[in-house]
Amino acid sequence: MNSQYKSWGRYPTARQTSWSILLRQDNLPPEKITPSGLPYGLGRSYGDVCLNDGGTLILTRALNHFISFDTENGILICEAGVSLDEILKLIVPQGWFLPVTPGTKFVTVGGAIANDVHGKNHHVAGSFGCFVTQFELLRSDGSRLLCTATENEDYYNATIGGMGLTGLITWARIKLIPIVNNRIAQKTIKFKRLEDFFELSNRLAPDYDYTVAWIDCLASGKSLGRGLFMAGNHATVKNGISLAYPQNQKSSSIPFDFPEFVLNNFSIKLFNKLYYHKQRRREKEKLTDFDSFFYPLDGINDWNRIYGKRGLLQYQCLVPNHDTDVIRNILKTISDSRQGSFLAVIKVMGDIPSAGMMSFPQPGITLALDFPAKESVFRLFKKLDVIVREAGGRLYPAKDSCMSAGDFQSYYPEWETFAKFIDPRFSSSFWRRVTNK
Ligand SMILES: Cc1cc2nc3c(=O)[nH]c(=O)nc-3n(C[C@H](O)[C@H](O)[C@H](O)COP(=O)(O)OP(=O)(O)OC[C@H]3O[C@@H](n4cnc5c(N)ncnc54)[C@H](O)[C@@H]3O)c2cc1C
Repeated sequence: MNSQYKSWGRYPTARQTSWSILLRQDNLPPEKITPSGLPYGLGRSYGDVCLNDGGTLILTRALNHFISFDTENGILICEAGVSLDEILKLIVPQGWFLPVTPGTKFVTVGGAIANDVHGKNHHVAGSFGCFVTQFELLRSDGSRLLCTATENEDYYNATIGGMGLTGLITWARIKLIPIVNNRIAQKTIKFKRLEDFFELSNRLAPDYDYTVAWIDCLASGKSLGRGLFMAGNHATVKNGISLAYPQNQKSSSIPFDFPEFVLNNFSIKLFNKLYYHKQRRREKEKLTDFDSFFYPLDGINDWNRIYGKRGLLQYQCLVPNHDTDVIRNILKTISDSRQGSFLAVIKVMGDIPSAGMMSFPQPGITLALDFPAKESVFRLFKKLDVIVREAGGRLYPAKDSCMSAGDFQSYYPEWETFAKFIDPRFSSSFWRRVTNK
């Protein structure tokens, strides 16, 4: 057992053995999956949903083959260890794009299905699972279930958003969307207060496929909730027809864990202030490549090390639409606690239902914030939990390291039905935590 495999937040840590599945035709050898197994993609989940302390991680990255690509109709079939980055390199030059993408392209297809990830277009597209029309689920007894919305549909619904617990997805069929060039027509609007964010969301959502805002979570008083609203669409023929993969991908790395004093209230407040004022004009429009628009953080390898050795936590909640006061209350609680976050993102989600019975996305407002893992932040999370719980909201398992069993079970009342589909040899640190097992 070792702690080589981590989640993105590097909190909590786990000691586990690992076994790599090499071919999609291979079965899961019972002697290797002990006492329990859990698939592991690229470990881009923040908390323990991809960890299995005391058990085995089933490494999936060797399942990295494309099986077929119908370039006429945009249908891709690939193995589950293929990353979204690898998919983009294949499909963009041929005029296709991912139907839904999270804020990093370094996730696998298996991971994207298992957390039913969402992106900036949730209000018009729904989540990743809405575009996964078929996949194969390998169970530890050697059975292979072909899952679609009408065949083995209970396993289809349990596996999308099923956090890797129902078995191993070996391959999937994904419906892509067409593009005519590699650019995004982006509009960025600086807004002064939270009310403006809601007004912009309502006004711009019908015209833009992608919307999201960054918020200065340390601003208070009249400036509470100020930020930058970003809206975008895939550029059209009039913007040119270059489908070349963007070449400006210079990446840098964080070579060591930053010492804790670097991240303090002062440095975060300063960063947020500078970031908010980086755009002088209220409104700016530009054509940008999709990489810069969707994956601004992917250019810095290991940026999680900025948060130091103890790791980082993300708090991503979702509250029902009508509760804008709840978001105000959450931001005020964070601002009063003086526990700042560089990365505070807010988005109005849409009402396209997810196929997954345990999927996180629902209609409402989602807010995601990164914090260093430390005692004062755990205390802050407890306060935020009370607000989210009372508002009838929920937290996102893919980002979570702290949710109590009681909260999880009230946020996801389907959990007991879901549990019937869990592979008897599969488990995770997350699942044991939220079910008190
Ligand atoms: C910078 C950053 C930005 C992000 N932005 C977003 C965002 O905008 N929206 C969003 O929804 N998420 C976002 N995420 C979270 C990330 O998209 C998800 O956690 C994703 O599931 C990670 O995929 P992975 O391949 O790294 O899987 P891992 O983290 O390794 O595993 C995730 C889950 O998938 C399961 N799994 C992996 N492979 C398989 C398989 N073959 N079969 C069955 N189960 C499998 C694992 O058991 C685990 O439960 C972000 C993460 C980062 C670091």
